[in-house]
Amino acid sequence: MIKNYFFTFLTSVVITGSINLHAQEKNIGDILIYNSRVTLLMPNDKFKGVPVLWQGSPTKEAMMALTFLKQDLITPEVLVAHENFEKVQLYYFNQFGRRGYDNKASMVQVGVNMNKDLPFDLGMKENAAWLDTLSMFGFGDGTKNGELQNFISSLEIVAHEFTHAVVSYTSNLEYVGQSGALNEHLADVFGAVVRQHYLPEAPNLFLIGDNALTLKGKEKAKALRDMQDPHSGLVWQPKDMSEVPPEFSSECVPNLFNDNCGVHILSGIPNKVFATVVSKLGWEKSSRLYYKVMTDKLKPTSQFADFKKEMSEECLNGNNLTASECSIIDDAFKEVGL
Ligand SMILES: [Zn+2]
Repeated sequence: MIKNYFFTFLTSVVITGSINLHAQEKNIGDILIYNSRVTLLMPNDKFKGVPVLWQGSPTKEAMMALTFLKQDLITPEVLVAHENFEKVQLYYFNQFGRRGYDNKASMVQVGVNMNKDLPFDLGMKENAAWLDTLSMFGFGDGTKNGELQNFISSLEIVAHEFTHAVVSYTSNLEYVGQSGALNEHLADVFGAVVRQHYLPEAPNLFLIGDNALTLKGKEKAKALRDMQDPHSGLVWQPKDMSEVPPEFSSECVPNLFNDNCGVHILSGIPNKVFATVVSKLGWEKSSRLYYKVMTDKLKPTSQFADFKKEMSEECLNGNNLTASECSIIDDAFKEVGL
């Protein structure tokens, strides 16, 4: 299932050797990067592309392409993919002891430049996704006249997609309506949290995809989504329950054209809650609570009201937060009509 939106060498590549060794020692899952631009160049399965960088080192396929085809497939996108995924894996391990997206240290497979040279677009040119069926992550680099580009360079977008995979192996929130919006929301939460962890000085940490906008995109908005002000992202989102568009009510039937009943729209409401909670409790306490609820408390069919209940209970029972801090969380949900 595509969870969309959200979301050239250096033969003598200097690869992040020390970080890399570090990650390897921790057994949190290898990272294999495919250059998916060249799906037609070499035989490969299911448009994955050519595997070119494994644990930061060129693969034999990359070496063969260089020798025989004079094609350097280890492009800047490939290198930044490795760097960003390693950061996200290390964040989850160092903060929560999580070994990779499935907590079993499975290999992270990432395709970059997806669909770039195909004469047709399989929906990935202007997109980023956790591709369940392939057990891989896919990143397009943008379309010529689009509003978004270069997703792989945005740490929060990489962390967003990685978190979809974490959700798949934990709460497994159904990707429709409010449960799907919670899936999107939590992906945005840990997108922002991971960026804050590595780049605490970034100007507005509640923006998602601000660096992925093209000039055309920048004319319309300052980011793909804005958790603090959900109205002002590239795509409008409601900031409270009174603004839920009627077509996304509980009667909605999901289809290919209504974003599975507005999963990328409705996520604006819990996103707004998160922005309020973080501004009052800080990133550290907030992220620990959200991680626990995401991985341990929610169920596939959880709705916004269930989320509020689990957050409230977990706050009081398990997270070393005080009663007054927990009332801040309750109030943040009340402010959005929950
Ligand atoms: Zn998403």
